[in-house]
Amino acid sequence: MVKIGSHVSMSGDDMYLGSVKEALSYEANAFMVYTGAPQNTIRKKISDLRIDEAVQLMEDSQLSFDNVIVHAPYIINLANPDPEKREFAISFLTEEVKRTAAMHAKQIVLHPGSAVGGDRELAVKWIAEGVKQVISNTKNLDVKIALETMAGKGNEVGKTFEELKAIMDLVGEKNRVSVCFDTCHTHDAGYDVKHDFDGVIKHFDQVVGKEFISVFHVNDSKNDVGAAKDRHENFGFGFLGFDSLLKVIEHPDFLSVPKILETPYVEGNAPYKEEIMMIRNQVFDPNLVEKIKNK
Ligand code: FE
Ligand code: FE
Ligand code: ZN
Repeated sequence: MVKIGSHVSMSGDDMYLGSVKEALSYEANAFMVYTGAPQNTIRKKISDLRIDEAVQLMEDSQLSFDNVIVHAPYIINLANPDPEKREFAISFLTEEVKRTAAMHAKQIVLHPGSAVGGDRELAVKWIAEGVKQVISNTKNLDVKIALETMAGKGNEVGKTFEELKAIMDLVGEKNRVSVCFDTCHTHDAGYDVKHDFDGVIKHFDQVVGKEFISVFHVNDSKNDVGAAKDRHENFGFGFLGFDSLLKVIEHPDFLSVPKILETPYVEGNAPYKEEIMMIRNQVFDPNLVEKIKNK
């Protein structure tokens, strides 16, 4: 069965228990959470996350821990030229990896970073040093750091497979790093995911190794290939389209890899239950966004 879910929230009194409930309400068998707001680094204590109840509910619902993904906040930049800020990013990420392990999740997605000022080579080196430090701070934990493929907006590092490979090589620890493959981002970065996903994967396999892909973000894009914009669109409603995204989801090489939707809300309504159902039915519904709007 296809492993499909969406990002869900982790907030309020329910915290992680609420995340599991939200995922189940979408009939998902996978999900992704930020451990707090994605745009800040304020986090609750591990003891306040309601992990035991969440884990119990996952077990009762046969939702595998392998399909649970944490996403690090996107304001963290391991490539910040200010050494104090890099230090902060490392210590914050160290705590995030500990939270990820406490939540029984096996991977945390990380936007590699941004080359402030434009020196990408130096940024790659700083990112690798940071990731390496985080790994050594969490030696005994079974958590992978999944570097996300980026759209290449501004000075984002990780726009090319070669850049991700360079980071991974410098980190070394091959059993602790992996890749989160975002379809919107790779398309926006200029890879022809729409017409030639097999060719893109062949390229990825030659550069990085396809076995390093530990999660997909299956987003459509509001922009044409190579736009470097990073604006997600609802599944099937953007430039990638339903058939090419379904091909990613059903690709035989990645059946065991969880797929996560980060598609936009439609006028305040979460689209995930409907998108997941459409994906499982394997038939595009051109009226889906309209239906979600009127929920
Ligand atoms: Fe991301
Ligand atoms: Fe993503
Ligand atoms: Zn994105």
